[in-house]
Order: sequence, then structure tokens, then C-alpha cells
Amino acid sequence: MSMNVQPIPTLSDRINQVRMLTAEIVNREILPNENTLWRWHRDGFEDSDRQKARDLRHEIQAKVKQSGLWAPHLPEEYGGCGLSFLEHAYMNEILAYSMGAASLFGVVAPNSGNQKILLKYGTEKQRQKWLVPLTEGKLESGFSMTEPDSAGSDPRSIKTTARLEGDQWVINGHKWFTSNGKRADFLIVMCRTDDPDADGDQNAKMTQIIVPTDTPGVNLIRGVEVWGRNSDHCEFIYDDVRVPAENQLGQTGSGHAAAQDRLGAGRVYHCMNSVGSMWRAFDLMVERAMVREVHGGLLETKQFVQGWIAESFIDIQAARLMTINCAEKMDGGTDARTDISALKIFVPHVFSKVADRAIQVWGAAGVSGDLPLAAMYQGARTLRLADGPDEVHKILIAKNVLKQYHSGESWDFGN
Ligand SMILES: Cc1cc2nc3c(=O)[nH]c(=O)nc-3n(C[C@H](O)[C@H](O)[C@H](O)COP(=O)(O)OP(=O)(O)OC[C@H]3O[C@@H](n4cnc5c(N)ncnc54)[C@H](O)[C@@H]3O)c2cc1C
Repeated sequence: MSMNVQPIPTLSDRINQVRMLTAEIVNREILPNENTLWRWHRDGFEDSDRQKARDLRHEIQAKVKQSGLWAPHLPEEYGGCGLSFLEHAYMNEILAYSMGAASLFGVVAPNSGNQKILLKYGTEKQRQKWLVPLTEGKLESGFSMTEPDSAGSDPRSIKTTARLEGDQWVINGHKWFTSNGKRADFLIVMCRTDDPDADGDQNAKMTQIIVPTDTPGVNLIRGVEVWGRNSDHCEFIYDDVRVPAENQLGQTGSGHAAAQDRLGAGRVYHCMNSVGSMWRAFDLMVERAMVREVHGGLLETKQFVQGWIAESFIDIQAARLMTINCAEKMDGGTDARTDISALKIFVPHVFSKVADRAIQVWGAAGVSGDLPLAAMYQGARTLRLADGPDEVHKILIAKNVLKQYHSGESWDFGN
């Protein structure tokens, strides 16, 4: 069944146009070809299937470019289609209906986050050297911040250091969960560039530095197994890695601010992705309930199943409206940090529940590789850790709320 996307009367013509164009490509080009596009590495598939998948991907990417939807997160002068924040957010709920479709539209994490950082913090020379080839697909990249020996939830605890020697940064440290690490041509590495015990703001003691992966001293230790499978979330040891001083991104000490920039809008995009995935899980669940017969009746006639349909409907609506509300606030220039934290907790949580119910309705097929539900379930669980675990966001919400009440004002949920 296709994704049912119709124009929304309250949205601008342009947002509706972006949604409809995206839906056309997802429904016509991607959904009917999911098996060819993504299943080629499974049992029984051969090299020719791999080539067929590659060719088809290039074909679809060309159609995306023709439709003016390529790399929605980047401006036209750097190879993107220059969508506004809201246009891009609304596009994501359609894109994410088919897992993997975003890559056919030029949005692949962690490259996309790195592209945004290069755009905002990079010099023109850095943009030409790293950003442009990244967008053209000629380079791959990773973002290397989390460390096995310090808490990722508290970025100020980072131990990896970079010290300036002449016109070079010398980097030493141990990182893991650097996604895309095996394929990356360069990594953006978060380094401590100032003594943590010295006076001054702790957040202003870190700097992001571009490190080509073929630099001596960059040691790829392994892809860390995730959910029982090999992965390209990699462990690296940086051992006296020397890169030119000009590889630093932005001002010395701007690393923490750049990481926050990366995550703010990114969390809204991720949540709209989760809404799109839930939408698919919901469709799959309802379709199955309509045809599967058990104990003398279709699943749709059983009240347990009707309950799951209703609960999932409520969860998706709540998650979607919460995310859109936050996106609209951000677009209007309001400080939406409390809302961002709230949806970063809520949306992955209900995403887990919606995927879980769909799996239950499908029985064994639900956890098989024939459907996207198992991958959704694992993805939703992982989201509760990545980009800041739930607890960190709860602390932030409570801090912001209490600050407001201490200042003599209660919370205004209308704004
Ligand atoms: C699939 C995947 C891909 C990733 N990709 C990347 C990447 O590309 N680059 C990168 O740098 N990192 C990446 N990460 C790492 C991710 O950002 C970190 O895992 C995350 O920031 C949490 O850090 P941590 O794992 O060190 O957990 P910790 O900081 O050790 O936290 C552990 C737990 O402690 C709890 N906790 C934290 N603070 C508090 C508190 N104040 N009160 C109570 N409880 C608390 C939370 O439940 C938290 O889950 C990835 C992670 C995963 C799973």
C-alpha cells in the first residue's frame, strides 16, 4: 500500500509541494523497489543483485535531483536544494516512511550533520575542500566525540586532547561509536584544547578539528558490534596525530557550541523521521490486522488488536503535533530548548511502542528481515541513548521550568 499523503490546507503551497513531490518519489520509485534496493545483502543474493541495487539507487537519485529535492539541508551554492527549516522538517515525515530513502535524497548521517557544521563554522577553503566533495558523494565522513572512558552525556568530561605545536595540532585520545568510521575519509574530532582545571567556562575549552583518516596515528581499532551485528560505529585511538592548525573548525573553544548547533535542529529532523517510520509501522499493522485470521476471526475484530490500533493512532498524532509545534516555534525564532528536550524523550519512546505493537500483530514475521519493523524497533531504542539520553533531557526540562517559576512567572504552554 502507498503512503497516503494529501495537501494540508493550513500549510504553505511550497511545503505542500515539497511533501507531494517527495511522496511521489517514495510511492512510485522507492516502495515498490525496497527489496531490490536494500535486501541485496541477504541470503541468496548475488553480485548481480548488488550491482542492480547500485544502478537503481543512482537512477532514483537522478530523479530526486531533477525534482529539485536533493540535499534539503544545504543551500544551492553547496549542492543542496536550499529548503527552509520547516520545509525540510515536513519532508522528513514522508522520506522516513521507507527506511533508507533519505540516502536517496542526499541525507546520510553523520555526513549531513558534518555538512551543516562545515557550512556554519568552516572557512571557504574548508568548505571547498571537505563540504563540496561530501555533498557530491566523493568523500565520506564521521563525527568523533564519544569516548569509552568518559561520559558522553557530559561532553565536558572529554579526555581527548589537542595541543598546538607550531602550525600543527597534535591529537591524542580514545573514541568510540564514531559512526561511518570504516568508510570515512575524514573525521571531525572533538578535542579538549584548554586545561580543564584552568579558570573559565568549561564549555569553551573544546574545539572540533578535521582529521583525514589516512593521517599517521589514526588507528581504527574495530567496528563495535551493535545489536549483535557488525557495525561501522567505530573505535579509534588517536596517537600523536598531527594535522595543520588550519584544520580547526571555527574559533578555538567553539567545539561545544558547534556540537549543540548540530543537535538542536537535528533533533527535530530525527523526530519527524520517527513520525514517518511510525506512520509506516501503523499502516503495516492495520493492513495485517485486516487479512490475518486467527481463532475464527480476523485480527481486526479482536479488541486487543483494536486497542493497539487506537493507542498507536494516539501516540503518532501526539508525537507528530508535538514535533511540528516545536519546529514552528523554532522557525518563529522562539527559544525552544525545553520543547526540543521534551520531544527528544517522548517521540523515541512512543516510536518504540508503535513498532512493538506492529511486531506483535505480525507475529514471527514482525521480527524477520522481510519487514522493516525489527530495524525500526532497534532504531527507536537506540534513539533513547543517542543525541543525549532521556535523563539528560529531563534534567534540562526541569531546570528550565524551575528557572522560570523562580523568576516569578509560571509556564505558558500556549507559547
Ligand atoms: C548507534 C549509535 C551511534 C552513535 N554514533 C555516534 C557518533 O557518530 N559520534 C559520536 O561521537 N557518538 C555517537 N554515539 C554515542 C552517543 O552519542 C552516546 O552513547 C550518548 O551521548 C551517551 O553517552 P554514553 O554512551 O557515554 O553514556 P553515559 O554518558 O555513560 O550515560 C549512561 C547512562 O547514564 C544515564 N545518565 C546520564 N546522565 C544522568 C544523570 N544526570 N542522571 C541520571 N542518569 C544519567 C543515562 O541513562 C545514560 O544512558 C552513538 C551511539 C549509538 C548507540
